[in-house]
Amino acid sequence: MNKERPYLTKRDGKYEIKVRVKAGHLSLEQLQALKDISEKYGAGEVHLTIRQEVLLFDIEEEHIEEALKRLEAVGLRGGSAGFRVRNITCCVGKRCKNCAWDPVALARELDEKYGEMELPGAVKIAVSGCPFPCIRPQFNDIGIIGRTKTHVDEDRCDGCGKCIEVCKMRAITLNEQKKATINEKKCKMCGRCMLNCPISAISIERQGVTIMIGGHGCWPAFSGETLAKMVKIEDVVPLVGRILEYYKKNALPKEKRLRPLVKRIGIERLKKDLLKGIEVLM
Ligand code: SF4
Ligand code: SF4
Ligand code: SF4
Repeated sequence: MNKERPYLTKRDGKYEIKVRVKAGHLSLEQLQALKDISEKYGAGEVHLTIRQEVLLFDIEEEHIEEALKRLEAVGLRGGSAGFRVRNITCCVGKRCKNCAWDPVALARELDEKYGEMELPGAVKIAVSGCPFPCIRPQFNDIGIIGRTKTHVDEDRCDGCGKCIEVCKMRAITLNEQKKATINEKKCKMCGRCMLNCPISAISIERQGVTIMIGGHGCWPAFSGETLAKMVKIEDVVPLVGRILEYYKKNALPKEKRLRPLVKRIGIERLKKDLLKGIEVLM
C-alpha cells in the first residue's frame, strides 16, 4: 500500500486505484470517465466493492496522474483506504418505493463533512432509508437507519386493507369498525403503510433515525449496539461528528475500529457522553 496515497495498491508492477463513490451514486459523466480510464490505461473492466467504491485495475505508474486528473474533472477521486472515514454507503433512497425520506442527501452531507477524515482506525458508515436495511448499516462502525412512526386517521380510513398487505411485521389489523389499527409492539417504523395507503389516511407521527455504533462486517461479523433509537434527522450530522471526535480522543492504540472502544467503554456510558443535548425521540 502507498502510504501517501493508500488508495493506490501495487500488484504485479501495475496499480489499482480505489475510487470513492458518494452515497453509491454515479452520474453518466462519471461512468464515462471510469470507462475511458479503464479502456485507455487499465484492464478494460472495473470491480464494484461492497462499500460502493469502484476499483480500476492494471494502471501503469506513468498513467496514474492522468487517470487521477480525469477522475477529478468529473468530481471523483481516489480514497476510502487506511485509517480514515471510508466511503459512506447508502441505499437507493427515495427511488425505493418504501423510502419515506431522503437518506442519499444525508449520506452526501456526511461525506462532505467527514469523508476521508483521518482517524485512529478505519470508520465505516452506512445510511439506510428504513429498518429493513438493504445496505446493512448494522455491520458498520456507524449505522444510520431511517425510522418513520406512522399514525392512522380513522376518520379517513376506508378499510381497504392495502396497508395490511404491505406491512412486513403483520402489525396492522382492521378493528370492529373496519379501520386500520397499528400494533405498536410489532411495528418497526418503516413507513411502508403510509407510502402505500391509496387515500393518504396514514401520516407521519414522528420521523428520525436509529444510530448504531461498533458494528463490524468482517468475519466474524458483529452487529453494532444501539446508541439512540430515534434522533432527529437534522441532529445526525453533528452527532456523527461527535462520535468521530470521541473516537479520535479516546481510542487506545490497538483500537483500530470503533467496536473495541464501544466494548471497553460500554454503550450506557457512551450514551451519556455522546447524547448530551441531543433529543432522543423514543
Ligand atoms: S433500505 Fe429500505 S428504503 Fe432503502 S432501499 Fe432498502 S427497502 Fe428501500
Ligand atoms: S391502506 Fe389506508 S385506507 Fe386502506 S386500510 Fe390502510 S389506512 Fe385504511
Ligand atoms: S410502519 Fe409499522 S405498521 Fe407501518 S408498515 Fe411499517 S412496520 Fe408495519
